[in-house]
Amino acid sequence: MAALNGAVENGQPDRKVPLPRPLRSLEVKYTKIFINNEWHESTSGKKFPTYNPSTLEKICDVEEGDKPDVDNAVEAAKAAFQRGAPWRQMDALSRGRLLHKLADLLERDRVILATLETMDTGKPFLQAYFIDLEGCIKTLRYYAGWADKIQGRTIPVDENFVCFTRHEPMGVCGAITPWNFPLLMLVWKMAPALCCGNTLVIKPAEQTPLTSLYIGSLIKEVGFPPGVVNIVPGYGPTAGAAISTHHSIDKIAFTGSTKVGKLIKEAASKSNLKRVTLELGGKNPCIVCADADLDLAVECAHQGVFFNQGQCCTAASRVFVEEQIYPEFVKRSVEYAKKRLVGDPFDARTEQGPQIDQNQFDKILELIESGKKEGAKLECGGLAIEDRGLFIKPTVFSEVTDNMRIAKEEIFGPVQPIMKFKSIEEVIRRANSTEYGLTAAVFTKNLDRALTLASALQSGTVWINCYNALYAQAPFGGFKMSGNGRELGEYALAEYTEVKTVTIKLSQKSP
Ligand code: ADP
Repeated sequence: MAALNGAVENGQPDRKVPLPRPLRSLEVKYTKIFINNEWHESTSGKKFPTYNPSTLEKICDVEEGDKPDVDNAVEAAKAAFQRGAPWRQMDALSRGRLLHKLADLLERDRVILATLETMDTGKPFLQAYFIDLEGCIKTLRYYAGWADKIQGRTIPVDENFVCFTRHEPMGVCGAITPWNFPLLMLVWKMAPALCCGNTLVIKPAEQTPLTSLYIGSLIKEVGFPPGVVNIVPGYGPTAGAAISTHHSIDKIAFTGSTKVGKLIKEAASKSNLKRVTLELGGKNPCIVCADADLDLAVECAHQGVFFNQGQCCTAASRVFVEEQIYPEFVKRSVEYAKKRLVGDPFDARTEQGPQIDQNQFDKILELIESGKKEGAKLECGGLAIEDRGLFIKPTVFSEVTDNMRIAKEEIFGPVQPIMKFKSIEEVIRRANSTEYGLTAAVFTKNLDRALTLASALQSGTVWINCYNALYAQAPFGGFKMSGNGRELGEYALAEYTEVKTVTIKLSQKSP
């Protein structure tokens, strides 16, 4: 996500910029359900714990929302969307101003939010500060600018009629977010939803609810009318399913696994055919041609797969290298991986923190074992770091073939499988032979090759000579089973508006 912020290149902070410091002791203030700009206990009286994955210590308990709490949140969001409610009467420019004010408060509380995100996810603090928070602020400002520019069209029909379109908000939008970029994925949904005039019911991932709840306090402080944004922490099969099956929710935006994405789409079709956008998994090819700038390609492929502990849907988890440069590429990639600093995410030098939880940790180690058994060559890593909780050594496999599980399944961990290719046609076929289609990257100095690959690769994004170059103004989403619809950019506005056609017959007949 280098392009989200000038102070970070490929996930590494620029040492010339004065570095922010995390808060060493931070009291967690917001742990309740946020409905109508007020904090509520769960209807069931239940709470659930959230842990710091670096220390495995409990941070705090959070109110556990379930269906009755989602129902209350939806009632609030419906009331806030009623005709005549303050949110509906507000002019579009003022909606934009509220989003700008929210961005101002994120800037003010950036250290608090980055500290909370690091506590809850284990991601390095500087990455939370420079990448996640920067992306949130830019996305809010980008959509703040759109609020008063969402226009319909006048459609020429025959002269006895006037026909125009209105781009109207959809109504109550559900947002279900993942644990790898908790705040950023929330903002990717919240900013376009609000700029178009919708109201929201949000369920953050159960592993990482804290920054989303903090946003509730900022929503209130900014002065959004009560009920416009509601946040219900809780588990997926309970609170999440209550959102995806709800008859009064008009649209749902989800980021997470393909398995749950399918459940959500199914629930949407079985309930009220609510609109669905899904941002799901990826098994993203990163193609390095023999003529590439090798230093650049090695570094980008390394950051592309190891960034965020490998827990990225965009992870460069299938690296295809042209055979002439294969040995050199592997050698240099191993050098990078061996140098990667794994440790306390609050230490400014740390590049890699722990995995999010025991489930993910076990799944990654099991896939590493499968790689060893299936005959890939383990170049480095391949193990947990023994004396500490959920940390895994940066792992590189060479001699990987397409039939191995590490080449087919999403690993979501610090594991780099490197394959060899001989010709462009061959690599196109192999890169595309996956059910996923989120991102792809190409490293070459040859323009013709770059553009041939950009057009042939079946993925929602193709990066040429760069990686994770994401911009608030550029759409992001997947082909095939990587998802439906697009987030970010002007394209996302269509995902949060309904088009209404108004046709008027003129009483005056033409002579
Ligand atoms: P992961 O497998 O990486 O944890 P998930 O796709 O399970 O990712 O989780 C992403 C989000 O989806 C989380 O907020 C989670 O609570 C939610 N979720 C999980 N199961 C369901 C479900 N059955 N219905 C709705 N949301 C769910």
